[in-house]
Amino acid sequence: MKRMKRIGILTSGGDASGMNAAIRSIARSAISAGLEAYGINYGFAGLVAGNIRRLESKDMDGIIDRGGTILYSARFPEFAEEKTQLKGIEQLKKFGIDALVVIGGDGSYHGAERLTQHGFNSIGVPGTIDNDIPGTDFTVGFDTAVNVALDALDRINDTATSHQRTFVVEVMGRGAGDIALWAGIAADADAIVIPEREYDVKKIAEHLKHNYENGKDHGLIVLAEGVMSAADFKAELDQYGDFDSRAITLGHIQRGGRPTAKDRVLASMFGDYAVRLLLEGKGGLAIGIRDNKLVATDIIDTLENHKHITDVSLLDLNDRLRF
Ligand code: ATP
Repeated sequence: MKRMKRIGILTSGGDASGMNAAIRSIARSAISAGLEAYGINYGFAGLVAGNIRRLESKDMDGIIDRGGTILYSARFPEFAEEKTQLKGIEQLKKFGIDALVVIGGDGSYHGAERLTQHGFNSIGVPGTIDNDIPGTDFTVGFDTAVNVALDALDRINDTATSHQRTFVVEVMGRGAGDIALWAGIAADADAIVIPEREYDVKKIAEHLKHNYENGKDHGLIVLAEGVMSAADFKAELDQYGDFDSRAITLGHIQRGGRPTAKDRVLASMFGDYAVRLLLEGKGGLAIGIRDNKLVATDIIDTLENHKHITDVSLLDLNDRLRF
């Protein structure tokens, strides 16, 4: 087997806090093992365009605490076409890159999967705020997003309490309710509404009415965006009572900001693990953490045969704690 010399790194899909910590970890771990690290700008779009640069250890200074991604990201649906994927591989070969680490969400993983199927060794590091990737309990960016959402919910709770209002707050999560569940439980939500489980707006309204009659004259409903918009949910709720309700969409503030310690450490562990596996000649893998242990699973099998499973028992927990 040819000795590996150069590792490429790209970030793709929606940015997530902690992606920079992952880039730093991959680059520094590679450099400390005597390899060269190359950064690919703008995800798969930059890969195909050959927008590739050498990363030195000093370039990794002062990025662990920065949100976003110093390698930028891009949506590039053209990468689903085989001829575009082969162009990407041509560029990697032109730069002498032997293996690629892709940091991103499940869409980005499909890109890494396709490169692996074409014989180019690629490893996926889970970086997405949604926590919706199979093969891992947690993704880089999730913890920061939850904490940003929680900070907003705490503030909203203050005004809800002062003005006896009910707020419907929409958090991110198109396919997965993880952000809504974690932020909702931590913020003492009266109801959490996620795509993984049917909701009953009449029951939620009854619970709020019960609260209003018993001295808690304000409410908080945390809604995952994949269910419906906050405005639509408020309109449904208003049919069952007058809660002086307000609808808020937190939106993109959930993506950015300083990554939490958990995201920085997770990203550092994932990146270094990816490099160590590549050094052992392994590839075609998805990195993750399961039951607090680092794991690497076959990327093709992981994507094709497994799904992220949201822990809906958290919803039952919240139901027990709100009485
Ligand atoms: P997030 O869910 O956090 O936004 P993501 O990685 O799922 O992240 P996507 O926009 O779904 O975001 O995918 C990112 C990029 O990955 C796409 O723009 C495209 O370049 C590539 N990609 C997505 N799906 C495929 C696919 N089936 N085959 C090859 N490449 C793909």
